[in-house]
Amino acid sequence: MSTYKKPDYMDEITKPFDVRTAMEEASRCLLCHDAPCSRACPAGTDPGSFIMSLRFRNENLLTKVKTF
Ligand code: SF4
Repeated sequence: MSTYKKPDYMDEITKPFDVRTAMEEASRCLLCHDAPCSRACPAGTDPGSFIMSLRFRNENLLTKVKTF
């Protein structure tokens, strides 16, 4: 039997946010003009647009943002 213990930071990855938590987290965004999160995303997604859409409840834009 393996004695491997999953690192704590993996807990955040495996537990998805519920809508309320996602909205609370999105409210922390500073709405950077140049969105360094989007520029630096190694997967080529656009987290800045996604977070802004979530924060302002723009469901039309939210469905169009490339997430994966
Ligand atoms: S999520 Fe992106 S746009 Fe919001 S504060 Fe962080 S870097 Fe800026």
